[in-house]
Parts: sequence; structure tokens; C-alpha cells
Amino acid sequence: MNPQDLDAYWMPFTANRQFKKAPRLFTKASGMHFWTDDGRQVLDGIAGLWCVNAGHARPKIVQAIQQQAAELDYAPPFQMAHPKAFELADKVSKLTPAGLDKIFFTNSGSESVDTALKMALAYHRVRGEGQRTRLIGRERGYHGVNFGGISVGGMVGNRKMFGMMLSGVDHIRHTHDAARNAFTIGQPEHGAEFAADLENLVALHDASTIAAVIVEPIAGSTGVLIPPKGYLNKLREICDKHGILLIFDEVITGFGRTGNAFAAQTFGVTPDMIVMAKGLTNGSAPMGAVAVKRSIHDTFMTGPEHLIEFFHGYTYSAHPLACAAGLGTLATYEEEGLLTRAQQLQGYFAEALHSLKGLPNVIDIRNTGLVGGIELQGLPGEPAKRAFNIFLDCYEKGVLIRTTGDTIALSPPLIIERQQIDQIIDTLRGAIQRAA
Ligand code: PMP
Repeated sequence: MNPQDLDAYWMPFTANRQFKKAPRLFTKASGMHFWTDDGRQVLDGIAGLWCVNAGHARPKIVQAIQQQAAELDYAPPFQMAHPKAFELADKVSKLTPAGLDKIFFTNSGSESVDTALKMALAYHRVRGEGQRTRLIGRERGYHGVNFGGISVGGMVGNRKMFGMMLSGVDHIRHTHDAARNAFTIGQPEHGAEFAADLENLVALHDASTIAAVIVEPIAGSTGVLIPPKGYLNKLREICDKHGILLIFDEVITGFGRTGNAFAAQTFGVTPDMIVMAKGLTNGSAPMGAVAVKRSIHDTFMTGPEHLIEFFHGYTYSAHPLACAAGLGTLATYEEEGLLTRAQQLQGYFAEALHSLKGLPNVIDIRNTGLVGGIELQGLPGEPAKRAFNIFLDCYEKGVLIRTTGDTIALSPPLIIERQQIDQIIDTLRGAIQRAA
């Protein structure tokens, strides 16, 4: 493309001036690969952006979207509906842990997070505990970019430009503990005690003021931080003890990433709400959802029948194209056994990933299921640059990875084959060596 054709688009989360000097454009994708505008094939090591779990351009999903666009392009979601919204909600509710069987649709992870936070506040109000307004997030948490999400989130860069946040938000510490857990394969042994931070906040603020706690089971965007053994269970116990809702943000971990439909199942802890997006439509249409415990939903249903129970929703909630894409996606996952495929591949993936230990500047490697993080010693005074140089190098060599700070993240489509895992790791090995 000509430089003048790149002018108008202000790209999100991108160094725009740098990008426009050397743009990287994809024009086609299929299965495990992208193709660039100059015809190069690039192996997708990150499932697009943690979302294309079944691989690209899968026929069932393509057909579902095409058919839906011709049949019913749009239906108003307030006081009206269309059958596929119910059908998809039903299918999603069968994948979530038992009890979380009411599904509210949104258009993104960020919207799902803010929806869940509002639901938590409204829930307490409806049942007569309207003083429970405090929301607890976690340092290094990422919960999207809307005001609720950045308030409970703990990524400094996403907050400091904007000043105003939701009031009455507090944070517990993140669980990353390199000194004790570096190079752990799977869940770290040490760190369950970090959950006690929540008890400290209960002591500080009083439980009667706290509505909900939100955490990602695995913090993806801040470096693939795997929860220490027992940590999520402890959070659950403390929430139960004090009547606080526990929300899992499974935007990244949902839909097979950890070897089950949701990380809640992998780690054996059931939250009160699950926030999801990305893999719900295999990235093929913008859509998110919040799965809610039936008891929470039912609390909203006690007023007069002619009244709206929850004053919230979007013009594109349960959009027909997204619902069709979701149904095509879930059918593909089911037919190909993709939601549990990470269980079969995780041993091979872990071994390949941890074979990078000992390379220059590799200071930690973390993984579970088909998600991995490789943390590098950053260049002095230039945080994130070494990892970004490795990203550029891999891209030139035909492999797409992702970096966050000085951590390289991998989360390939769940259809990946062993030799493609090898290709990603071999390419990374070369790039890490060249970046030394
Ligand atoms: N929560 C988590 C855990 C995420 O990883 C993301 C996106 N990476 C979001 C929320 C936001 O999702 P979206 O970009 O669809 O708004």
C-alpha cells in the first residue's frame, strides 16, 4: 500500500508512526496460517489474538455467517429476539460449569467485563445489600479497556493516561513470584498465600461494602501468569465466607485453551460469573458473553413481571451474524474434539517450550494447556524492545507470536500439529539467539 493510503486509520494499541514506516498486512487466512499482502505464509502461533481456537476460515463457521447474512441480517435485541440467540445461549450454558447457566450476550471482552461488574452491583442492590459497591481486581490484571475494566485492571499503562477511574476499587497482589517459581512446568507450587490479600481487604473495608472480586484464572496479557496451586480455591473460600461474588475473566482461557471448555473446570474452582469472548465465535465475529449462576439471575426476576429486570444491553447484543458464527464455532469445536485437545498436546508443547531454557536472556518460562510465556531480560532502559525485536524477526521468518512487555506469549490454534509446534519453537530459538 502507498504511504498516503495508511494515513486515516488510527490503529489501536500500536506504535502508529513506526508501523506506517513498515506496515505488516494480512490479506488472507486459512487453517493454521495467515498470508501477507506480498504473498508470504505466516504460521499463526497466537490464534490471531488468543481467539481463533479452531484455526482460520473454518467451513462451518464461514457458511453459517454467509447464510445468516442473507437470511436475517439484524433483529432488535430489546423486547425482540431471534431463535439463534436462545440456541447459542443454551449451547454455551452446557459448556460452562454446572449452575452457570444463564447467558447474557455482549460484543467484546471489554463489554463483558463491564456487564459482569454492573450485574454484580445490581444483584446486591436488588437483594437489599446496595451498600456492597466495592470492586476488587488484581495487580497486573487485564480486563479490557472500558472504564470498569481499566479500574479493576492493574496494567499501569492502560490507566495512567486517563486519570479518572471508578471509585471504590481496590486491588490484591498478582501471583507472579519468579524467585520461587521460575521455569515451573504447569501450575506453580508457591503462592497460594497471595489469596490472603483478599482477607486483608475485607478487614480494611468490611465485607459488607464489597460486591465482587474479578480475576483472570491465567493473566494472559500481562505475561501468561499461571495461578499457583490452591490459589483460586482460596479466593473462592474467602468470597463464600463473606458473601462476595467471584468473577472469572475467561476471555483468553475460555473455549479449550487450558484443556477444558473453561479454566474454571481445569483448575476445579467454580466462580459466580464467567466473562468470555474471543473463542466464542473463533474470532470470526465480535461477540462476548457473561455466564451467570441461575441463583443470581433469579434474584433479578422477583419484581413485577411487566418491568425490565436489568437495565443494560447493546444494539448488537446477540447479533444474528455473531450468533450464527458462535453456533458454527461450537459445532466445529465439538466435532473435532478441540475443547479437550490441549490435554493431549500440552505435554509436547510444554517440553518444546521449556527446551528454550538456557538460551541467552531467557529468565522464565511458564505454561499450561496450549498457552505459554517466555520471559526475557529486557534491554537496559528500553523495556519491551528485545521481545519486540524477536517478534519482528519471527514475523520475517514466517511465524506470528505476540509480546507483552518483555514476555513472549504463545497460544496457537488448538488444531496445531506437533511439527508446527516445532516450527514455532525453532523459529523462536533462532530469534532469541540473534537478539542476544
Ligand atoms: N479480558 C481479558 C482477560 C482479555 O485478555 C481481553 C482481551 N485480550 C479482554 C478482557 C478484552 O477483550 P476485548 O479486546 O474483546 O474487548
